[in-house]
Amino acid sequence: MSEHSYDYDLLVIGAGSGGVRASRMASNLGAKVAVIEDSALGGTCVNVGCVPKKLFVYGSHFSEDFEAAAGFGWTVGERSFDWPTLRDNKSAEIERLNGIYGNILGGAGVEVIEGRGVISGPNSVQVGNKTYTAANILIAVGGWPFVPEFPGSEHVISSNEVFYLEQFPKRAIVVGGGYIAVEFAGIFHGLGAETHQLYRGPMFLRGFDDDLREFVANEMQQKGVNLHFNTDIEKIDKNTDGSLKVSLNNGEVMEVDCVMYATGRRAKTQGLGLETTAVEMRDNGSIVVDENYRSAEPSIYALGDVIGGLELTPVALAEGMALAHNLFGEGGRVVDYDNIPTAVFSQPNIATVGLSEIEARKRYDNIDIYKSSFKHMKHTLSGLPERTFMKLVVDKDSDKVLGAHMVGSDAGEIIQGLAVAIRAGATKAIFDSTIGIHPTAAEEFVTMREPTN
Ligand code: NDP
Repeated sequence: MSEHSYDYDLLVIGAGSGGVRASRMASNLGAKVAVIEDSALGGTCVNVGCVPKKLFVYGSHFSEDFEAAAGFGWTVGERSFDWPTLRDNKSAEIERLNGIYGNILGGAGVEVIEGRGVISGPNSVQVGNKTYTAANILIAVGGWPFVPEFPGSEHVISSNEVFYLEQFPKRAIVVGGGYIAVEFAGIFHGLGAETHQLYRGPMFLRGFDDDLREFVANEMQQKGVNLHFNTDIEKIDKNTDGSLKVSLNNGEVMEVDCVMYATGRRAKTQGLGLETTAVEMRDNGSIVVDENYRSAEPSIYALGDVIGGLELTPVALAEGMALAHNLFGEGGRVVDYDNIPTAVFSQPNIATVGLSEIEARKRYDNIDIYKSSFKHMKHTLSGLPERTFMKLVVDKDSDKVLGAHMVGSDAGEIIQGLAVAIRAGATKAIFDSTIGIHPTAAEEFVTMREPTN
């Protein structure tokens, strides 16, 4: 078959962050593009991830804000929280975004094919009983929550269900020690549930800077989240009233209304028809690609969560852009995976860019560490004990700032700017000569003078 007889230049499976960006860009560059999606447009981020999660984080922060208001002279009347209002307002906003995604794709000239795409060969995808052909196929199907199997695991929920709960739990357990678990422990607690977070190891947030991990653990505990480290669930029994009896590996038994597992996500490649192609997968189902997102089958590409790298929306967006330009534009686009900033919307927030202290010490001989922990100005009157933490990791020999880490309100907003500086190769001397914005918490990043090594 000659290339000209294909239905499309690019056929994308999955209209999430990566798939939508790649389709739009490819179409803007003149390619004939269709995207196949069997669920709401926008993928995990829009529907059951970043966006609704952040709305819940905002919602859950009010309990603390009401408390803080008293020190500023406000009397806040009787408070109550209505879960269906938050849940349904959030869902309405998500539906609005789904519509916007549809308009954006339509506006860019991308055809949306509704249904489940199953690959039937290197250049063909089946949707229902129709077969579509394409010169290039892009797999951007994302991931799916992974829940380990154990007695009673059928009673747990994941981040797919938590956004649509019928009833808000009075008592909740969150299992896991990554982004989602830490964020939802804060959400459950802030919205009024007695909250327990269980993590199998000695300290959660593996991979983040150690000082930051400990700092946020203390802050969360101080706010009232019950952290149980070195703890796992052995079995769950459902009581007749619908509540759950949870038996832990330390012999303890807890009674709760909801158990949420946030124990990682897996590439959603099952049933995708990859056996009809030469595409290679790892044991966990993620797709192996080269630096141009090309799989072992030359006409098939993959990007975003399904390739098992950094599972972050802005990374998938960058990959989608690069692929579209390399296939249909001027080419030569490479995504730089160094110094990718990231935030965890825990309470308080975490944000980080660059190397942790441990990583920096592995790679450089002389490291200077600058740290600061202080009470945010707001909390001098709020009466809340929350503290803010900042840390800079500096290569003493070149004076380059290698990493910036923060726990505190708006950490993500602050670290985004520092990420630009660090990517530009800013030295500690440049940080020091930058005038602070007063009074802010962020100014502390340009006023840390003495290394604490
Ligand atoms: P993560 O991979 O971040 O964390 C998974 C956690 O589950 C780890 O603490 C891990 O422990 C633990 N775990 C894994 N398997 C088991 C098991 N069998 N039993 C008990 N614990 C287990 O996954 P998440 O689900 O939190 O999130 C998925 C990804 O989504 C994140 O990595 C992130 O990239 C992205 N995300 C980004 C957000 C943001 O940008 N703010 C928000 C939410 C998600 P251990 O460390 O010991 O392996």
